[in-house]
Amino acid sequence: MSTFPFTLADLRNHFTELAPASFVVHNDAAFWMQGKGLDKRLVVLANRSNPVFGKFQGESSIFKDHTLKICPLNHANARALRSRLDWLKPTPIGLGTSAGMGDRLGLATPGHVRAMHAVGGNLVPIFAQQSIREMQRTNRSPDDVMTDATFGAFEGGWRKAVGADADHLKTPADIDACVAAGYSFFTIDPGAHVDSAADTAPPQVITSKVLALPWDDLESTPDDLNKRYVGKTIQLEDCAIPLDALAMARAAAKYGQAIAHVTRMYRHLAAHNIPFELEVSVDETETPTTHAEHIYLASELKRLGVQWVSLAPRYIGRFEKGTDYIGDVDAFEKDLAVHAQIARVFGPYKLSIHSGSDKFSIYPAAVRQTRGLVHLKTAGTSYLEALRTIAALDAALFRRIYVFARARYETDRVSYHVSAHVARAPAPESLTDAELPALLDQFDAREILHVTFGSVLTTKKSDGAPLFYDDFIALLRAHPDAYAANLEQHLIKHLTPFAKV
Ligand SMILES: [Zn+2]
Repeated sequence: MSTFPFTLADLRNHFTELAPASFVVHNDAAFWMQGKGLDKRLVVLANRSNPVFGKFQGESSIFKDHTLKICPLNHANARALRSRLDWLKPTPIGLGTSAGMGDRLGLATPGHVRAMHAVGGNLVPIFAQQSIREMQRTNRSPDDVMTDATFGAFEGGWRKAVGADADHLKTPADIDACVAAGYSFFTIDPGAHVDSAADTAPPQVITSKVLALPWDDLESTPDDLNKRYVGKTIQLEDCAIPLDALAMARAAAKYGQAIAHVTRMYRHLAAHNIPFELEVSVDETETPTTHAEHIYLASELKRLGVQWVSLAPRYIGRFEKGTDYIGDVDAFEKDLAVHAQIARVFGPYKLSIHSGSDKFSIYPAAVRQTRGLVHLKTAGTSYLEALRTIAALDAALFRRIYVFARARYETDRVSYHVSAHVARAPAPESLTDAELPALLDQFDAREILHVTFGSVLTTKKSDGAPLFYDDFIALLRAHPDAYAANLEQHLIKHLTPFAKV
């Protein structure tokens, strides 16, 4: 039985800046967030003898015979909070339907929590989710991302399980940094080892590519490969996939190096001896993953002892950033239906949908065909909602960002799959201030604003001061409810189809 003597109502009388959604009493100690912007603090209140205080850094005072500690929002206090409120500590989430909501600004999680609460159901969220590439583009560390997500989830009042996705890891050093920061879900991206030219190379080139594979690492030989697959037919639930010699040689030539890389990364991660789950993602590669290739990937990874919870093939059609699916939705569903059967027969494991922001037209098919064995990843869409918030609050700032983004686009688009043209995006001088927010709903402007986030957030003026970052962040910090409301409204559209499994 709790011996904590104060009610939320008592405390709100004394602490007028207390954020009620954050308030929680756990093991006879109360925790809440108070204040706004940079003055925001974590507060811990408990009997002076409560062991809770040991791990928190901050200033202590006395409040009615109890000890009150006011703690800055730093990494040490985020760790302490995760160790005290254990639901905030990321853990493996298994096969439950799940959704990742990346946050490049460190300010989006309270809005993500609002969307999660609004959709209900058993969907499991991943609030901390960022690739090493995007961390570098925003000057953030794995700890920064984790700390922001921890305090955001706490502030929003999230009280159920969470995962944390160290996304698109490419090297063992990436793994080490994210293990140290407390991540639980590790997405291994062997894309640099995928040979997409194998799709169309002539047979003799395929043969030499296969002979050149790292057979020691694959613990196999070209002969074994033939014996295991060639001439076999894989019976799935309502279809069968024949594996002929050329298709399997192409699969091996395309993905053999990637399998060796994933196996190395998996073993490196497993040697850390932490609870974790693994995703394998080949979504950022040039050509779609065929069903035979998916079978080859899954059965080879299994043979090498790799265990994974989700896999992101490269699907058919175009998954451009921050916009809906481009392609034939019926064809996508038919293709996905077979991938989903492979995932059930060879796993079960989840299919993961990367670049999942705003792919509204395919969500119903994805949920239907996977029967909920699916993970959705979004990130850029939350940055775009920040821009929508800014466009409504400070037209002049947004206008400057849009002009800058148009000028940066041709450079910044290179590492992304996008097809926007600057000439098709409305010219800034043609728009009134009131028309600016609608740019977030125009295809070309949306992609231009999406892929330039790194430049917008990190470009400096000649005197070394940030060009936009300080004003951008200060505005969102000053209007947290405006940003959270936009996020809630927009993310509900993403999460609802996945919450209804
Ligand atoms: Zn991805």
